[in-house]
Amino acid sequence: MISDKMQTFVSGSSAVRAMFEEGKKMAAEYGAENVYDFSLGNPSVEAPKSVKNAVIKVLEETSPNILHGYPNNLGFEDVRLALALQCNKLHGTDYNENNIVMTTGAAAALNIILKSIINPGDEVVVFAPYFGEYRAYAGNYDGKIVEISPNKETFQPNLEEFEKKLTEKTKAVIINTPNNPTGVIYSAETLTKIGGILKAKEEEIGHPIYIISDEPYRELFYGDFNIPFVPDFYDHTFIAYSYSKSLSLPGERIGYVTIHDKIDGFEDMVSALSCANRISGFVNAPTLWQKVIPHCLNESVDVSVYKKNLDAVIDILTELGYEFVRPDGAFYVFPKALIDDDVAFCQAAKEFRLLIVPGSSFGCPGYFRMAYCVPYETIINSKESFKALKEKFSR
Ligand code: PLP
Repeated sequence: MISDKMQTFVSGSSAVRAMFEEGKKMAAEYGAENVYDFSLGNPSVEAPKSVKNAVIKVLEETSPNILHGYPNNLGFEDVRLALALQCNKLHGTDYNENNIVMTTGAAAALNIILKSIINPGDEVVVFAPYFGEYRAYAGNYDGKIVEISPNKETFQPNLEEFEKKLTEKTKAVIINTPNNPTGVIYSAETLTKIGGILKAKEEEIGHPIYIISDEPYRELFYGDFNIPFVPDFYDHTFIAYSYSKSLSLPGERIGYVTIHDKIDGFEDMVSALSCANRISGFVNAPTLWQKVIPHCLNESVDVSVYKKNLDAVIDILTELGYEFVRPDGAFYVFPKALIDDDVAFCQAAKEFRLLIVPGSSFGCPGYFRMAYCVPYETIINSKESFKALKEKFSR
């Protein structure tokens, strides 16, 4: 018999994953080319060739005992140092290997951070719409998610409500920019305001409130943007980074945490993250992939492919009269559903072999998420289905 806590997780299980499974069934029934599956953020662009070359090089040149042995729970020191130096180069920090903890992707990064800071009942603030897994990640440590309602005009954070909902129990705020599911990017001005609000609250309540900046989409943006470096705006910041999207390696489970050197209790925090990596059962990030990363520091997937997809999605949705906030990054768009019940709407979309995810999964009912990290033809060929869906609800 499974535990009561696990029962809650299973019954609230990810709608995105469920949709993905359904997509596979529909593809078997109708043929993959006739199913327009926009459900999962599984990158469609191949990893850069340099990644494969780096894997071969690492396999050939690293002693098997080192490559396949247990590293420090924090990760290999040389790899962490390489990432710290890269961060210093890009952001003018003064980091060393102690500022970096290698993780099995952003999911593990978020989990070890939360495990290290959350006491039961502590509050973790999120801005809706948000990546639904945060609910489970906070729940793992009996933390309580506090949602800030969406600002539907822009999907930028609703700072008035944010300020009001901070309490003595607030321990962390998760931000995610470029954002899943909306694709919006937070400006330096917004981050300055968030930092200011948090600093004032910290003084009032007398303990730190941490920003956890979840950044798997840092490199995916379409236009002349400078993605702000969050520790520039707030000292008590962790970054959860991942190569799942920037190098298209989601199955390899490789990422890292950056602990800002001005974070409260820096040394204890590094020890806690190391211990959390071990006792959560991750033990350490995959060793082969740790060693590959320093060879790929300046690499990224070809984002022009996603930009082309985004333009096609925008053209189709605009022509058909769907309402949405134009995304600037990540590979998602978050349009308004054509009826209030977003779950019924996404269910109805299946009639036209369209797989889209209800906004409720992201704490924002009345909308749907479309992941456009799919072949370009899937987008073009889906137009008739989006048209039929629109007609169904225009009668
Ligand atoms: N955070 C966000 C916002 C995501 O969209 C995802 C994955 O889609 C993750 C975290 C988890 O990323 P990873 O595969 O690196 O664990």
